[in-house]
Amino acid sequence: MTLDVATAKKTLSNERENLVHQLTELGAAESGDLKADLDFGESFADAAAVTAERTEVLGVVDSLKHQLEDVDRALAHIAAGTYGICDKCRQEIGADRMKYRPASVLCVDCKSQANP
Ligand SMILES: [Zn+2]
Repeated sequence: MTLDVATAKKTLSNERENLVHQLTELGAAESGDLKADLDFGESFADAAAVTAERTEVLGVVDSLKHQLEDVDRALAHIAAGTYGICDKCRQEIGADRMKYRPASVLCVDCKSQANP
């Protein structure tokens, strides 16, 4: 199987758009910073619930932000002509893995070392 960079670029661009859209929906800027005026409704009767909801939203924003970072890194690899090359060991990541997860910038070995 060969690596289809053109298709990967399209997939990643769509994914990026989708992630940015989700962040915007959550009231987070593209940088992942929540807007100060994030609206959790007018009722502050149950402050704990609001805090819990905010924590949950921040968790989702954090996750989306990380995904966005991965996508941006993968897109940078495409631009640099190093797409499919592991960021750490400089070995080919493998087309199977790249097709399964187009935003991969680490091979399976380096990824498992990064997240034990
Ligand atoms: Zn590696």
